Amino acid sequence: MSQLRLNPLTGRWVTVSTDRAGRPGDVAPRQREVEADPSRPCPFCPGHEEATPPALETYGPGGSWLVRVVPNLYPAFHGGDVLAVDHVGPVFTQARANGIHEVLVLAPEHEGGWADLDDRHAGLLMAAVRDRLEDHARHANVRYTQVIVNHGREAGATLAHPHGQLLGIPFVPGDVAEELAGFVRFGADCLLCTTVEAEVDAAHRVVHADERVVVVAPFWSGAPFELLVVPRTHDPHLARAAPADLDAVGHAVRTVLGKLRRAVGDVAYNLVFHTAPHGFRDESYHWHVHVLPRVTSTAGFEQGTGVLINIIAPELATQRLLATD
Ligand SMILES: [Zn+2]
Ligand SMILES: [Zn+2]
Ligand SMILES: [Zn+2]
Repeated sequence: MSQLRLNPLTGRWVTVSTDRAGRPGDVAPRQREVEADPSRPCPFCPGHEEATPPALETYGPGGSWLVRVVPNLYPAFHGGDVLAVDHVGPVFTQARANGIHEVLVLAPEHEGGWADLDDRHAGLLMAAVRDRLEDHARHANVRYTQVIVNHGREAGATLAHPHGQLLGIPFVPGDVAEELAGFVRFGADCLLCTTVEAEVDAAHRVVHADERVVVVAPFWSGAPFELLVVPRTHDPHLARAAPADLDAVGHAVRTVLGKLRRAVGDVAYNLVFHTAPHGFRDESYHWHVHVLPRVTSTAGFEQGTGVLINIIAPELATQRLLATD
């Protein structure tokens, strides 16, 4: 059972999820390989479907699957109750970590990742993400769903088989609340529609563009090779995106991950899907995907201040990514 605890210094919730410490490979000394014990059968490979709870959804041609969604065996968020906050002391504020935690198996192949998928497969993945977001939105206690892909141990992956996670949580997380405030602060025009227009005009930070999606190394990149994937169609909610836009974003993510691998090698990265909180009526937000490679590590200054020091300017990162074509 997981618990939420409020950090009164930051106003942000922390999830204490002790069951998850039982996962293989957790709290292990630093090592480069994702799997410490390659003899353990992979629970996400075809033929081992019984190693996970029954699938919530599968996608692919009849009989076999290309994409599979299963409940997480070690859920950080679990249960259907709405958020009920208990004050158990002057600075002790807690709640049950209700919600949903699912695994998105990206492909049957044990090796590789999103960079290796064909267009149809990348589109299926985005359709799966869309469907799960729609499902989570029907749960009254789930305020927001975070979709992520962790690739490589430095990015937090504990299993090598390419997979993502969907975490339906009972509150709007701090980073998303900050972005929502950023859109309001920017004013009448949409912050990301304006970003797309301005970056396409400037041209020298555009890594990929077609008629439906633009990928830039944003002007404000906080880390080397950080990328921002923005669909051109304005919509706060990924769950409302048209199939053609989902296909285009899936293809764009595949394309830029391929460029990243050719430019700097098979580095660890996180994909972070940001969409408006479920049921959020304000139309100002614009859904997008962050590609966050882990090519450097953050240290005390960043931890202490939240101020990032980026040692590779996004203009140079763009040049290096485009040079791989
Ligand atoms: Zn596998
Ligand atoms: Zn917009
Ligand atoms: Zn974002």
